[in-house]
Amino acid sequence: MSEKLHLTGFSKTELAEFAEKIGEPKYRAKQIFKGLHERRLLSFDEMTDLPKAFREKLNETAVASILKVESRYVSEDGTRRFLMKTPDNFPVETVFIPTENRDTICFSSQSGCPLKCDFCLTAKLGLLRNLTAGEIVEQIIIVLNDVYGTGAETPHGTNLVAMGAGEPFLNFDNLIKSLEIMSDEEGLFIVPNRVTVSTAGIVPKIYEFAKLEKRPNLAISLSAPNDELRDKLMPINKRWNVEELLAAAKEFEKTLRRGERFTFEYVLLGGVNDSEAHARALANLVHKYELQKVKINLIPHNSADPLEYHPPSFRQVERFKNLLESKGVSAYVRRARGRDIYAACGQLAAKDGMNKTVGSSSWQEKTDCLLPTAAAAD
Ligand code: SAH
Repeated sequence: MSEKLHLTGFSKTELAEFAEKIGEPKYRAKQIFKGLHERRLLSFDEMTDLPKAFREKLNETAVASILKVESRYVSEDGTRRFLMKTPDNFPVETVFIPTENRDTICFSSQSGCPLKCDFCLTAKLGLLRNLTAGEIVEQIIIVLNDVYGTGAETPHGTNLVAMGAGEPFLNFDNLIKSLEIMSDEEGLFIVPNRVTVSTAGIVPKIYEFAKLEKRPNLAISLSAPNDELRDKLMPINKRWNVEELLAAAKEFEKTLRRGERFTFEYVLLGGVNDSEAHARALANLVHKYELQKVKINLIPHNSADPLEYHPPSFRQVERFKNLLESKGVSAYVRRARGRDIYAACGQLAAKDGMNKTVGSSSWQEKTDCLLPTAAAAD
């Protein structure tokens, strides 16, 4: 494993300290920051505005890139899933989701996940380890370069969602640090209101998050309207139950500005949490806590072996949504993207060796080809 410093995860202040330590003027720190984050260069040798001797000096103690892209899968709907590896060989998955008006990158905050949500494939990996701030930032740089070319403008901006593998609030400090680095206008310039962090309900961190001055949007994975069911589906509920979670959501809501909203995600599991009684109980919860700035994202379950759940029928999803709306609660159905390449919500489990691989040797060719749509092999 590389003992060198991974500068991609350094804040501007840390880079300035680093420059000083190696006896270089302060402006070098800014040059490195811009090289990494504005031009998205993942090697110092490409930073030709730096003197050659300085680049050599940098190479002795530091690196710009530590993640290796092992495989890249392209869905029939244009979604791309990147399976990367850390130097200590842990999987990191990132998904690029193109839409007409904007692109979204779904990144991972942990390798694997410690929360044993019963309907989620990532849970089967368990927690492998927290990702560093540099590993979080580098995911985004790698994906943007793959899609648009190194350093090229992103045509309609990029939204980020911390909805890949892992529980972002269990890696809070690295997450927040990475988001600060990515929001810098001399870098990626992805500002907090273009970012959404999704939590399974780490209640104390919701309060901490609410206090942040420049903070991203929040999504809370609820998925059940009562403790009995939520205990079964999301064991984290035994630590912080529905009441505690909703109380935190209420406190968070109070800190929202005019026009801002937050989200409850609700994974719809056929025959489990998708009845009209569940929808009514969910609407009642929203009313009980007098939540006025919440919208509900309904996510029909993405099934995969060995998960035992299945999505409700299209009609049942509509019924659930209509019932919420009839009670004055806004609800949307999240369209699954990249299901055929194990890129959809809850499907990130480092699946590899499928017949859609575009191996790392050719992933730089920037092919936009949509690969054949044969069912993904296990
Ligand atoms: N740990 C965080 C971040 C993961 S976000 C969280 O739980 O919020 C991923 C979202 O996908 C969560 O809302 C999660 O509930 C949902 N999800 C997990 N498995 C799923 C599956 N198989 N199908 C659909 N959604 C799923």
